[in-house]
Amino acid sequence: MPMRTKYCGALTAADAGSEVALCGWVASRREHGEHLAFVDLRDHTGVVQCVVDHAHDLRAEYVLRVTGTVRPRPPGTENPSLATGAVEVGDCEVEVLSAAEPPPFPVTDRMEADEGVRLRHRYVDLRRDRMQRNLRLRARVNAALRRSMEDQGFLEVETPVLIGSTPEGARDFVVPSRFQPGSFYALPQSPQLFKQLCMVGGLDRYYQIARCLRDEDLRADRQFEFMQLDAEASFVDQEDVISFMSQAVAAATEVATGGTCPEIERITWAEAMERFGTDKPDLRFDMELVDLTSAFAGTGFNAFRAPCVKGIRVPGGADFSRARLDRLTEQAKDYGAKGLVWMRADEGGSLDSPVARFLSEDELSATALALSAEPGDLLLLVADKQATVRRVLGLLRTELGRPPVNEGGFRFLWVTAFPLFEGIGDDGRPIPAHHPFTMPDPEDLDRLEDDPLSVRSLACDLVLNGWELGSGSVRIHRPDVQQRVFSLLGLDAEEAKARFGFLLDAFGYGAPPHAGFAFGIDRLVALLAHEETIREVVAFPKTQSGADPLTGAPSPLDARRLAELGLRLPPPS
Ligand code: ASP
Repeated sequence: MPMRTKYCGALTAADAGSEVALCGWVASRREHGEHLAFVDLRDHTGVVQCVVDHAHDLRAEYVLRVTGTVRPRPPGTENPSLATGAVEVGDCEVEVLSAAEPPPFPVTDRMEADEGVRLRHRYVDLRRDRMQRNLRLRARVNAALRRSMEDQGFLEVETPVLIGSTPEGARDFVVPSRFQPGSFYALPQSPQLFKQLCMVGGLDRYYQIARCLRDEDLRADRQFEFMQLDAEASFVDQEDVISFMSQAVAAATEVATGGTCPEIERITWAEAMERFGTDKPDLRFDMELVDLTSAFAGTGFNAFRAPCVKGIRVPGGADFSRARLDRLTEQAKDYGAKGLVWMRADEGGSLDSPVARFLSEDELSATALALSAEPGDLLLLVADKQATVRRVLGLLRTELGRPPVNEGGFRFLWVTAFPLFEGIGDDGRPIPAHHPFTMPDPEDLDRLEDDPLSVRSLACDLVLNGWELGSGSVRIHRPDVQQRVFSLLGLDAEEAKARFGFLLDAFGYGAPPHAGFAFGIDRLVALLAHEETIREVVAFPKTQSGADPLTGAPSPLDARRLAELGLRLPPPS
């Protein structure tokens, strides 16, 4: 008989009477009289009950080969909550393939072990259903993305990992060079420059499931290294890019949900900021920002004499306790507001608020009307500069309204017409909202130097349930426009040449107009798997502090290696 003839989770009543060889781990063992025990044997497909003699030396997580005969369970002992619950394997011969230490935590989804312990023993953690499910979903998503890109005529090209610096704006991870001590490679923040070179190279449509590395603080939705579906195409415009990527994410969503993915909605950046106070709105709930500036135009209430006043309605929030309202006020201040005004809509339809006596009847009724207040609602108002009001209310909206990860479906959204620059830096220079190769909207090009912040770009983002999945743009392929953008950023010809000279040179040899996009696969899979953090869909993630408790990375380098690399560390202080 072969080592294995069936998977544990696959046995059904139809297998009754057949001889099987199963391999797996001991999930549990229950004594049954003096000489018999029930052993639940687990592999990646599920568990099945084996009736085993002399089971006393079999412990949890031992690796076994069990041969035996499948038989229906005696009437009344079936387990309908188990896929294999109608059968058991009897007359078992057991071969212990590996003994096992007691596991550091039970291999079950019913109990959540400490994350540090899970990561240190990730190989045990991976045996749990949750991790099996997530990694298998991830593999299906990858396959669907590849299939979709291939079907759309994209060519998979692998780009190098030891490179120069990339212009994504995060910190590079660097690798010292042994052959050129004192020189360093950077690890790619993205394949951006290479994919543009592929376009100059006539490859026409490139894609890659690319590993990207950014030395940034880690969060629930961010690891140092992450995977992107990265793509670039020649002789296309933004509409084409949106269509390519929409098809790819729809294919991924369909393998995850089994349903079809509706056409993805779109919103301009300006509208997203106005309605939701953020460029990555979560469309699973309403609570939109409502403008009240004109309602308070002539107000006698000092705090509302501001360039901008807006509010949100929290349905049913009137019963928030005073302590909770105080916490919200503190939160609003942390987000940058001077204060937060709250109002409760009472049964009679009037608004009850600590500041009500400073407001006129007209102001109160205009507020209630604009926000469509219903009895039982809570209204939250902020007055300040427009950007502050939007940010604070946008964050409060998310905080108070966001449904749990497993509710509200998958609301993809294209956010288009981003501004080219996101603000002015300390050096007085505009800060690019994406990278410096993003094409300004031709309609706004004549304002580039005089009013850069009003210039829109041909860049867009893809958002899912409030998480930014990725961004992309039409690229600048004309040297004169690129030069104007570089000058605005304060990159003179020499510096631009030093940093991106190879790309600019390449553009001198016949650059097709091109555009591209990249989105994070970890984030996409986490959301599709209803997980709160991307660590749950990464086989071997780092902790929040960037360490790998399993392998001990990062670790010190010995003196000989340091010397070889021409590196010297400061003496320990
Ligand atoms: N390279 C960009 C990023 O990683 C995406 C793009 O513009 O294609 O965000």
